Amino acid sequence: MQFYRATYPSYLELYESGELQRRAEELWEVAMRDCTLCPHDCHVDRRAGVKGVCRSTADLLITSHVLHWGEEPGITGTGGAGTVFFANCQGRCMYCQNYSLSQYGRGKKRTISELAQMMVSLQERGAHNIDFVSPTQYMPQIICAMPEAIERGLRIPLLYNTNGYENMEALRYLDGVIDIYLPDAKYADPEVSKRLSGFPDYPYFNRIAIKEMYRQVGGVQHDDKGIITRGLIIRHLVLPNNMSQAREVLLWIGQELGSDVFVSLMDQYFPAYRAVKDKKYGLYRSLKWEEYDTAMAAWEEAGIEQGFIQQHLVEEGNAWYGNDDIPDPNNVYEGAAELAAGEG
Ligand code: SF4
Repeated sequence: MQFYRATYPSYLELYESGELQRRAEELWEVAMRDCTLCPHDCHVDRRAGVKGVCRSTADLLITSHVLHWGEEPGITGTGGAGTVFFANCQGRCMYCQNYSLSQYGRGKKRTISELAQMMVSLQERGAHNIDFVSPTQYMPQIICAMPEAIERGLRIPLLYNTNGYENMEALRYLDGVIDIYLPDAKYADPEVSKRLSGFPDYPYFNRIAIKEMYRQVGGVQHDDKGIITRGLIIRHLVLPNNMSQAREVLLWIGQELGSDVFVSLMDQYFPAYRAVKDKKYGLYRSLKWEEYDTAMAAWEEAGIEQGFIQQHLVEEGNAWYGNDDIPDPNNVYEGAAELAAGEG
């Protein structure tokens, strides 16, 4: 097992030096009073109850904390991901599959101490990591909860599961705290990202953020049981009608990042939320096999060597195929094509 840091999980080193507590105080006192935690740069005083684009005040809204079995194999492992679903989001994705949480804010108000207890409880139930879903607007509360969680015995790594619309300056607060980053790379076209998700300049901010995440944690590392312990995994959800521009996204990853980065190419799009009736962008339907096939060809063209390919479109069940299962992505590609032909 290889780690870049002497202490693992990384947050222990910051806790022992007092840096974690210092960051928690700064986030709570400064960032929450003039919020620029994401590129919307709202500059609102959330502690005074003012809401920015994400509709979050200083109240910590959590929808659920569960053992999650549907993440990528090296994250789910045998014990599950210890997932904490937060309410609200910086995005307005018209096809959001979690829209009751992200857009309607379904969640219960929790204290910072309760968040710390949730983390420890997930560890006690066997989780391999703490998988924060849509965490950015609650970054101050998460960091504030860490000292208590550590004192209660938390020792599993933190995973930052984000839409990828991040501010570089805010990400610096996570340096040495997060061991695994799981950002989306949703779009290559800023006009499309604005129209479909309400993210101005998404590719610009997303690419800077991904590079910063890579600088912080590097490529993916596993333990001897195949559980991911550290590193960057980039998710791309392929959208119908090439709206996500998978080829451009994958080519950028292949050109700008190292071959130790993992890419998770997702085929699980289905129309949800406002996309159900969308004719303008053609998001009213599920993804076609040919569209995912084209994205997989772009994966090869980009020279991406490691990651996960889904096969919902060609098989029953939720099969994830990781690098360890099928070392050569070409095998996945050919096997999937045969299955598709057989089913057709
Ligand atoms: S986290 Fe919310 S309030 Fe802060 S800048 Fe982003 S959208 Fe605005």
